[in-house]
Amino acid sequence: MVLLGPPGAGKGTQAARISERLSIPAISTGDIFRANASGATELGKQAKQYMDKGEYVPDSVTNAMVKERLAAADAAQGFLLDGYPRTESQVHELDAMLAETGLALDVVLEITADAEAVVARLLKRATEQNRADDTEPVIRRRLEVYAEQTEPLASLYGSRGLLVRVDGIGDVDEVTERIMTALAPYAAV
Ligand code: ADP
Repeated sequence: MVLLGPPGAGKGTQAARISERLSIPAISTGDIFRANASGATELGKQAKQYMDKGEYVPDSVTNAMVKERLAAADAAQGFLLDGYPRTESQVHELDAMLAETGLALDVVLEITADAEAVVARLLKRATEQNRADDTEPVIRRRLEVYAEQTEPLASLYGSRGLLVRVDGIGDVDEVTERIMTALAPYAAV
């Protein structure tokens, strides 16, 4: 499955819970980039210059990384992608990766939250986690890039009959229960 939603919608938090309940790995491109950036690997150095500005990392870098991660043994029985695909071209790239392995997406879950709520959450997280991209101007840019490049993927997956939407506003546990109810027809939850 794929998880969509604006920065601050709670994808990372909910991904960990879904991963546990469905016993599938949660694969977060943002987490992989951050781990590489703090370890100062070549991939990390390339990614960091984009992430710190709120821009997307180039597809050439991102696609290769996802392809390698999906080839790992733990992804053979299913996986949850958090933060990928984020552009239409990444959708096509993922289609090709899945076709090669004979897998297909079961569901695309969009966690929705309005801009005002996500800015407030991200500014709060900035004081707790010290992420370089959680400053107000960078947050605004990330939301803009999301609206331009990623939000259209919801209707793209909707036209394939794969989209399920869940309201991300409210208590974390409440949102998890909403998600599990929404996913029930697609997976043995
Ligand atoms: P958020 O969804 O809160 O913005 P993420 O941790 O998912 O945070 O991503 C942080 C940054 O990592 C993004 O702003 C972007 O620079 C980079 N990134 C993550 N996934 C992708 C992707 N699929 N394509 C390009 N860049 C990505």
